[in-house]
Amino acid sequence: MKKKGTILLISGPSGAGKSSMIKELEKEIKDIYFSVSVTTRAKRDGEKEGIDYHFVSKDEFEKDIKDGYFLEWAKVHDNYYGTSLKHTIQAIDEGKLVVFDIDVQGFLQARKKLDDLITSVFITTPSAKELKSRLLKRATDSKETIQKRVQNAYNELALAHEYDYFIVNDILKNAKKELLSIAMASRAKTSSINLDNFIKEWSQLDIK
Ligand code: ADP
Ligand code: 5GP
Repeated sequence: MKKKGTILLISGPSGAGKSSMIKELEKEIKDIYFSVSVTTRAKRDGEKEGIDYHFVSKDEFEKDIKDGYFLEWAKVHDNYYGTSLKHTIQAIDEGKLVVFDIDVQGFLQARKKLDDLITSVFITTPSAKELKSRLLKRATDSKETIQKRVQNAYNELALAHEYDYFIVNDILKNAKKELLSIAMASRAKTSSINLDNFIKEWSQLDIK
């Protein structure tokens, strides 16, 4: 049965474990499309163009804003981040589960435009101390950047009540299971299914 396109929108502080959890979804769900954002932030060691992000200059990003390229965009920790409108619409038309990893400002913009299609999830660590410790261990950002990210986490957490679901990523294995359950439940919503088509096909296969 072909599903309608839907959006699983994930937010949470940088370092909460969003990317680690999304990787699991990509292994388990077939018709998934991870929305690769555009950013002006510097590429981290191990990140790949077109896989983790599309890395562009500030001028290119500002031109894309003017050209109406983005479904939503925001400035996060002094860098621009944005989601392509065209690629999102294409994936929705193909009936995919479209996954966004975007900040709370982006969530509020996307919700204004595509509320009916969105299931939203906020992910965080058990504490600020644990967030800082994970960012230090990940060792991809300077001490100053880490300080900024932890500070920003307080502002983001204050908006967590706007989301449909809330996950504390304490034990990664358990948190991955929780996210997978939410993703699967979002795909089983009646609003995600072409019920009229299903009923028509179902009736044609009448045993009489
Ligand atoms: P985000 O995408 O939210 O910025 P990452 O997935 O990059 O976060 O995770 C941040 C760091 O924390 C990574 O080094 C990752 O391996 C680690 N991590 C993720 N989940 C857990 C967990 N439950 N316990 C301990 N470390 C974790
Ligand atoms: P990072 O630099 O750690 O990859 O991401 C920093 C923050 O930017 C995270 O909160 C992440 O969710 C957010 N982010 C990533 N892509 C987008 C996007 O396309 N739009 C918005 N609004 N935020 C994004």
